[in-house]
Amino acid sequence: MSELFVRTLREAPADAEVPSHQWLVRAGYIRRAAPGIYSWLPLGLKMLRKVEAIVREEMEAIGAQEVSFPALLPKEPYEASNRWTDYGDSIFRLKDRKGGDYLLGPTHEEMFTLLVKDLYSSYKDLPLSLYQVQTKYRDEARPRAGILRGREFIMKDAYSFDVDDAGLQASYQRHREAYIRIFDRLGFEYVIVQATSGAMGGSASEEFLAVLANGEDTYVRSPGGYAANVEAVTVPVPEALPYDDAPAAHVEDTPDSTTITTLVEAANRLHPKAEGEWTAADTLKNVLFMITPPGGESEALAVGLPGDREVDAKRLEAQIGEEVAIEPFTDEDFARHPELIKGYIGPGVLGSESKTKIKYLVDPRVVTGTRWVTGADAEGQHVFDLVCGRDFTPDGTIEVAEVRAGDPAPDGSGPLELARGIEMGHIFQLGRTYAEALGLKVLDQNGKLVTVTMGSYGVGVSRAVAAVAEYSCDDKGLAWPRQLAPFDVQVVAAGKDAALLEKAQQVAQELADRGIEVLFDDRKASPGVKFADAEILGMPTTVVLGKRLADGLAEVRDRATGEAVDVAVDDLVEHVVATVRG
Ligand code: ATP
Ligand code: MG
Repeated sequence: MSELFVRTLREAPADAEVPSHQWLVRAGYIRRAAPGIYSWLPLGLKMLRKVEAIVREEMEAIGAQEVSFPALLPKEPYEASNRWTDYGDSIFRLKDRKGGDYLLGPTHEEMFTLLVKDLYSSYKDLPLSLYQVQTKYRDEARPRAGILRGREFIMKDAYSFDVDDAGLQASYQRHREAYIRIFDRLGFEYVIVQATSGAMGGSASEEFLAVLANGEDTYVRSPGGYAANVEAVTVPVPEALPYDDAPAAHVEDTPDSTTITTLVEAANRLHPKAEGEWTAADTLKNVLFMITPPGGESEALAVGLPGDREVDAKRLEAQIGEEVAIEPFTDEDFARHPELIKGYIGPGVLGSESKTKIKYLVDPRVVTGTRWVTGADAEGQHVFDLVCGRDFTPDGTIEVAEVRAGDPAPDGSGPLELARGIEMGHIFQLGRTYAEALGLKVLDQNGKLVTVTMGSYGVGVSRAVAAVAEYSCDDKGLAWPRQLAPFDVQVVAAGKDAALLEKAQQVAQELADRGIEVLFDDRKASPGVKFADAEILGMPTTVVLGKRLADGLAEVRDRATGEAVDVAVDDLVEHVVATVRG
């Protein structure tokens, strides 16, 4: 400790909101270099290397081979795949001295595809799985929580190459099982959820989420075992209802009711329902957005959904595409569309057949025969008993309504429950998108050229360090699980007496000789300072040699449980070795 390059800090950095960020900085594991960009100090790096080692072992165990690409990449492959544009502002772009365009790789599908294309040409070469553990760059809109969401971060990315769909299925399964082993070994609680594949396209896709109350991702689970990212949840489509007996639609005055709450209140007061009360669920809310694809023209989009639900921004983004800018209608947008009366917009002015020609997509619950209270496209008026399929026909459906606890799981496995987590790994069947864009083909058994099908598999390695910290820290500091701690044991000499220091030194050395990784606190600091530092630094076991050495006793503390036991100095090394080896 007297030589280790570390300083523990009394205060958490002002920008650190989550415990892992606070403790990793306070314990001297990482230091901020710029927003979302961190340096790794000796303790942090040792811990990071252990996470990497687990990832490498499990990748090698399924026969994946490690390569290493540059982070500084040419533009052309990313143009061929369209991601130079689609990634938008999230790419760090730069120019070389000749004016050539480069980027710092956000992920490497293109480069792997091209590498395999360069060297392989036959089905006999496949299947193949390659991976790297490498630094990635994304100019995240909201870098946060230290290394949990950085702008520079370390990812393990792997890619599988197969000649046919059955091969891809098998490769996907192999990687999935490797991921299960990786995350079991990292030791935080995780769930595997169905996911959308986002901007990359492709079909089957799952995410491994660390279960964390302050995670950014919401996922759902059902008692019957369904689990999905909120973006991937679909609404079970109700059957169309008969509407022969439905009354004709009628426009009613509903003054000053531009919100769902005021509308429900006005409806109940001025136009009471025959039975029961009007509720928000009886209303059809129409929400307008301006959507702008990268480099393209802005276009309006109207979304119709039951008034008791909000549009979920993440679900909307997943449907429209991460690369597309989505903005709520502004006053200027309304000014450009005088037919749209803010607060009173109804299906009458929406849809590609309407006079506005604005595309109108509705929640899947809005099926033929459902009856709604909705805007009448006139100030202070709403229309009642407006029947879908009779009085209006949307252009299609869209899955963007918020998912709520108690909603039915799409597979009929019971009511959904909501929970929070953070994405640690993502596996998906890319299919032929990249191989097609970049021309990766091989000769099959019949001598015919076929496009290779790919899978892509990522683990957030640096994020995993934060997740493990988040999971194991407490109000005193870090508390690493054994398999990941930078050192197995911290030996604390609690006193300044020469004999005590010598004995502590000897214990530390004997432990090291037995293959235990020891951090020896040989500093001249007070016992209190040393104990507090041991708690902040988080090694799983602390061995204290102090006053009771005179009675032949040392203390062995377990950082995670706080338990302390007295151990005879003569048995100390054996005891500690047994503790560490479990
Ligand atoms: P997120 O939804 O959290 O932004 P993503 O969908 O962009 O993640 P992928 O492109 O699938 O992530 O990347 C693979 C893995 O890399 C993720 O599962 C995550 O663990 C990690 N990762 C992604 N972005 C970051 C980041 N900004 N900082 C740290 N790790 C990240
Ligand atoms: Mg991301």
